[in-house]
Amino acid sequence: MVCVERAAPIGSYEVVRLGVWKALDVVAKGLILEGKKVLLKPNVCAPVAWDTGAVTNPLVVKAVAEWMFERGASKVDVGEDPIIGVNLSKAYELSGLAEVSRELGVGLLHLASEGAVRIEVPRGEVLKDIEVSSLLSRYDLWVSIPVMKTHILTTVTLGLKNTKGVLPAKSKRKMHFIGLDQAIADLYTVIKPDLVVLDATLCMEGSGPVNGTPKEVGLVLASRDPLPLDVVASWAMGFEPEKVAHIAYAAKHAGLAPSVESVSVTGYWPLPKRLGFEPPPTAKVLSRSGVDVIYGDACSGCVAVVEITLRRLEQSGELEEVLKRLGGLTIAIGPRAKLDKARGRLFVVGKCLYAQKERGIYVPGCPPIGFQMLDAIRAEAGLEHVFPLEEALKEANELYSFLQTAKKSTT
Ligand code: SF4
Repeated sequence: MVCVERAAPIGSYEVVRLGVWKALDVVAKGLILEGKKVLLKPNVCAPVAWDTGAVTNPLVVKAVAEWMFERGASKVDVGEDPIIGVNLSKAYELSGLAEVSRELGVGLLHLASEGAVRIEVPRGEVLKDIEVSSLLSRYDLWVSIPVMKTHILTTVTLGLKNTKGVLPAKSKRKMHFIGLDQAIADLYTVIKPDLVVLDATLCMEGSGPVNGTPKEVGLVLASRDPLPLDVVASWAMGFEPEKVAHIAYAAKHAGLAPSVESVSVTGYWPLPKRLGFEPPPTAKVLSRSGVDVIYGDACSGCVAVVEITLRRLEQSGELEEVLKRLGGLTIAIGPRAKLDKARGRLFVVGKCLYAQKERGIYVPGCPPIGFQMLDAIRAEAGLEHVFPLEEALKEANELYSFLQTAKKSTT
């Protein structure tokens, strides 16, 4: 079951609290919290203020924490493990969560602080095992609190994708390397939050998850299961859930139809109309002077990552300098890319082109992590970067060894 409630005006704590509590009262009915230790996992992916729409509204997190205390929870903490290079203390401060922590006495933790445990994924299609933050086992239950956003690689980022946040950095990279959409669905078969509260107060549309446009919606959604929640939320945003790959794959694992009609929805539902989110840019890479893209039947994942990388270089004012330093830029994507017409420096991108990795600067992933792609170009141009490409290549060589074996056996 999914409960949808109104939470606008979004800056009023009393209104947001009422929406969150009404939704939790419905979906968490019967959940015993007396004396329990609860971990809240919001989305604090970047060091930015919550009014950007990129991170969870701290008022939603505060409302969830207070609801837990009201029902007898003995301890409530917040945990996150952001992308490499992000200072988590700064991110907590900017997001407004540090203030919530001071007000309510909840801890702000780094999920990587106590190492990780390896778990098997027996029903995984691409994911056979994965490491998960050890901190989770110190809590009786955990609550996922994502924010409703579009995502250049996965169309939307909601409950299913927020679960990836409890993995250490290396495991997150692994998910990208082996096939992100299927890996998210495989992860769902072994790790689920006890509750999901989706912050749809201030959201993000367009080039999410970080560079998109804030969109005020004024809703909260809650469920005990991220799959039905994602089906309802993506439909509400304007995306057919059966066409959002990770939702469709997770539904297949669960033996369910990924359609909104198959989910029981209560509260402020049906919505007066769908929310009409601007989709992420996945259709093509815009043409830019000095940049060539060699397409070899690439799917939308690699297309989106190249487009967002070039946009980020433009926004930071570095694209011109990069092109000058590298004498032009050619980026090859897709399994059938022909690499002999490269101008300037050639970047060979994605798992599909692993067999041709020696032909240029190779960036692994399926699709690659956006900031890793950006950093690979910046590093080659002699600009400051944080993602260690050598480490990523080492991991990719281990993960893609089966591709080499397959190649050898056919030659
Ligand atoms: S590596 Fe291949 S399959 Fe993976 S996202 Fe890129 S083009 Fe698509």
